[in-house]
Amino acid sequence: MNIHRDDLDSILDKIIEYIFKDNIKFFEKSGISTDKKPKLKIIESLPSIVEIALTFWMMQKHRRIYGLYVQSLGTLYIIKKPLKRIIYRLLNTLYTNKIIVENLSSKTTEGYSIIGIRLSELSKIIYPAYINWNDIKNVAAKIPVDIIMIHEFLHFFISKNELVTYTLEYLIYFYKNGFYKYPEAYKIIKENIKQCKEYIEKEKKPDSYELRRCLANIIIHENRSSEELNIKDIIEKIKYLSEEDIINEIKSYKI
Ligand SMILES: [Zn+2]
Repeated sequence: MNIHRDDLDSILDKIIEYIFKDNIKFFEKSGISTDKKPKLKIIESLPSIVEIALTFWMMQKHRRIYGLYVQSLGTLYIIKKPLKRIIYRLLNTLYTNKIIVENLSSKTTEGYSIIGIRLSELSKIIYPAYINWNDIKNVAAKIPVDIIMIHEFLHFFISKNELVTYTLEYLIYFYKNGFYKYPEAYKIIKENIKQCKEYIEKEKKPDSYELRRCLANIIIHENRSSEELNIKDIIEKIKYLSEEDIINEIKSYKI
């Protein structure tokens, strides 16, 4: 694989701008008032002192900060340096597995394949993604940018509560990108639920963000026949769920 750093830099700026607009459109369509919009600021990296303070404040080990919504400034920051690291890792994985991936996936009508992508080695959860080898850099860059942007937009439009945003982030990524149309995407969801079941059996203290992603996968699987999600209804349904409720939901869910 040979990708020039500057090359990725320039496509990344375009993708960030595009996905920013795409997400505003999605929230508008979902009946969320978007009269007030965040400002977008693309930065290379956070000043290290800010990064240390934030990591400490989030109290999450190993978590890198890719995006940030600063309420007092009404600004959504996207931080390119850590993002580029995920994109390079993702491209490497994709190239290494190219043959396996091509054998496993079936093509959609537009010539894209749907495969499962793991964005963090700390998570069991995979995300469905459209892959087109002729356009692989764009494709690989879009996936993490989209997920990070959805997350930060959720903070702006919906809630400060991380537990709510972690559930909705996966749901919105799935429906906004039209994965509900493809059986391959539901295979990925089913696999995630299986992984979640194993995870809660093995792990005495499961990570609460991971549990929320598991919950999102169950909601998608439960609503297999529907083509859109009602964000407001889902928020009502999930905002009072405790970790124990979610663990029970995962345990008892039949797939
Ligand atoms: Zn957050």
